[in-house]
Amino acid sequence: MAAWFCGRCKVKMEEVDDIQIFYGEVDLPEAMGIRCPGCSQEYLLEEYVINELVAAEEMLEGK
Ligand SMILES: [Zn+2]
Repeated sequence: MAAWFCGRCKVKMEEVDDIQIFYGEVDLPEAMGIRCPGCSQEYLLEEYVINELVAAEEMLEGK
């Protein structure tokens, strides 16, 4: 697994699974991502986000 480093702090980021994401007005479930222990900057794991957004869009369109 590749290590992620914060661009600001140059420290290794921690993998977390409780990142809050918002897509328009939609409050999505907490997502997998990485968080810097120094500055608390969060980044989403892109692949996961794309899958979640597609699922959310399908859900919205189907209502
Ligand atoms: Zn940082």
